[in-house]
Amino acid sequence: MKIWKGTAASGGAAWGYATHLRGDPEGAIPVRRTVTDPEMEIARFWEAHGKALAELESLYRLAREDMGEEESSIFLTHKAMLADEELQNDVVQRIREKKINAEYAVYEAAQVYQTLFASIEDDYLRQRAADLQDVSQRLCRKLENSSEQALHKRKDAIIIAQDLLPSQTIQLNKENVNAFLTQAGSPNSHAAILARTREIPAIVAMGYEIASIPEGTPLIVDGDTGTVYANPDRDILAWFYKKTEQADEQRALLSQALATENRTLDGRKVEVKANIGTLQDLEEALANGCDGVGLTRSEFLYMHSTQWPDEEQQFTYYRSILSTMKGRRVIIRTCDLGMDKKVDYLKGAQEENPALGFRGIRVSLAYPDTFLTQLRALLRASAYGSLSIMFPMIVSPEEVDRVLELAREAAEQLRAEGIAMGDDVQYGVMIETPAAAVLSDILAKKVDFFSIGTNDLVQYTLCADRVNPEVAQLYDPCHPAVLRLIEHVIENIHREGKVCGICGDAATIPEFAVRAIKMGIDSLSVPPRKIPKLRHLVQNTDSNKGEYYGKSGNPQPNRPHTLKADCNMG
Ligand code: PEP
Ligand code: MG
Repeated sequence: MKIWKGTAASGGAAWGYATHLRGDPEGAIPVRRTVTDPEMEIARFWEAHGKALAELESLYRLAREDMGEEESSIFLTHKAMLADEELQNDVVQRIREKKINAEYAVYEAAQVYQTLFASIEDDYLRQRAADLQDVSQRLCRKLENSSEQALHKRKDAIIIAQDLLPSQTIQLNKENVNAFLTQAGSPNSHAAILARTREIPAIVAMGYEIASIPEGTPLIVDGDTGTVYANPDRDILAWFYKKTEQADEQRALLSQALATENRTLDGRKVEVKANIGTLQDLEEALANGCDGVGLTRSEFLYMHSTQWPDEEQQFTYYRSILSTMKGRRVIIRTCDLGMDKKVDYLKGAQEENPALGFRGIRVSLAYPDTFLTQLRALLRASAYGSLSIMFPMIVSPEEVDRVLELAREAAEQLRAEGIAMGDDVQYGVMIETPAAAVLSDILAKKVDFFSIGTNDLVQYTLCADRVNPEVAQLYDPCHPAVLRLIEHVIENIHREGKVCGICGDAATIPEFAVRAIKMGIDSLSVPPRKIPKLRHLVQNTDSNKGEYYGKSGNPQPNRPHTLKADCNMG
C-alpha cells in the first residue's frame, strides 16, 4: 500500500481506479502561425467568440438546473470575462499588429491577465486565473472547431489531473467519477467549490508525484483528511466500508427527518425555513421540507438589473415566490444593497468603511420613491400568498416608524386604485446591528416579528469584518458576547408576545443552533441544502437541557465556547 497526502477540498470517502486525465489544462498551448490576412483572422475570432458565449449560456442553464443559482454563477463569471472589452481589444490588436493566428493571440492575451491574477496574494482572487484559462481554452476550442475532452469514460474513476478547470468539474459525470485528485489547485478554486456542491470527494495540491500512479490502480480517497491510499490494505478497506455505511445511515436519518414534524424532543415547535436568493432556490427548499421562507434577499433582483427594477417586474417576481410556496409564510426582505452588494446605477461617494456606510434601509430611505415602488409591488403580490415584509439594517425606532409610514402610504395608494392586497401582511425587523439588539424591547412594540441576522450581527459585535479572511478567526458566532445579545433579544421579543427567528448562516452551525433552541428561538432559516440536517437537529434536541442527541442517542458535547471551525455543519 502507498499513501499520498494533499489538501482536502471536498469531503467524503470514495474508492475507484486511477484514471489519468490526458491533455491537462496547462499543456494546451496553441501553435503560433503567421497569417496573411489579419482581418479574416479577426472575423474568425469574432465567430468563435459568439459560439463560446452561446456555449457558456447553455452550460449556465444546465448547471443552474442541476445545482442552483449560486454554483452555476461561475458560468456568468466566465461570460463576463469573455465579454471583457479590454481582453477582446487586446486579442484583436495582437492579430492585427503581429499578424498571428487568433488561437495564439487569445493565448497570449489571456496569459497577461492570468499572470496578473496569479501574482495576487489573496488565494480566492488568485484562483480566478484558472477561470480565465478555462475561458481562453474554450475560445481556442471554438477556433479549432474541437469539442471538450470526455472526462469520464471509465466507470468508478478516480480522476487524476494536473488541475481541473471549473467547467470540467461541472461536467464530471457523477455516475462514473467517484473522486478527483489534482497535482495543483486550491480548496478555494471554483473546481473545489463545485466538487463540494456536487458531493464529489476531492483532494488538491497533491504534487506532481501523483502523475506516476499507474493507470487503473485501485485507490481509496479520504476527502476529509486529504489522504489517498493506493492498493489499500485490509485495515483501510475495513475503515472505508465503515465510513460509507455511516454515510448511508446518515442519508436514511435525513430522509426520516423530512417526514417528521419539526418539534424538539420535549415537544417545542421550531420551524425550519429557507433562505432564498432566486426562484430556483425555491424548488430545493420545498423538496427539502422547508416550513416557509425565512429570508428572501430581494436585492438579488436589483443586482441582476441595469437600473432600478420597476413595479411590474418586482410584482411578477414576488408573486411567483408566493404562489410557489402555496400558502406557506414567505418573508421578503426589502432591498439590502450596499457593502459587498453593489449596483452600477447606485453611484455614491467612495466609502472608506462600506460595512458602516450607505447600505440596507439607509439606501431605501434615501430613495423613498424607489422604496415605495418596492412596497407597492410587495403589497400587490401579497394577494397571492402569506407575505411578511422585513426591513434590514435597522438601528433606531425612528427608522422603523418611517418605514411603516411608507408602507401605509403604499397600501393607501393601492386601496385608492382598487388593487387587491392580502389581509394578513406582517411587518418585521432584522436584528443585525448591536443597536437594534440593545433596543429590541422598544422595537418589539412596533412590528409583528423579528429575524436575527447573525452574519452582520457577529461582524458588528466583534468588530470583525465578515469578508476579511485576516480576521476570520475572530468572527465567531458562538462568542459569549454574541450569545448574550441574542438571548437578550429573544427575551425582549417574547415578552411582547412576538416571534423571533434567526436567518444568518450561524443557524447552520449545530452548536449554535442548539443554543438558540435552548434560548427559545421560534424558527431557524438556512440555505435550502442545509434544511435536512437542521430538521434532524431540531427533532433530536432537548430544548430544556440544550442538548442535541446524535444518532447514537447520546447527548453531543455542548462546549461553552468554540471556534466556528469546530462546529460548522458543512
Ligand atoms: C445577516 O446579516 O445575517 C443576513 C441574513 O443578511 P445578509 O447576509 O444578506 O447581510
Ligand atoms: Mg445582513
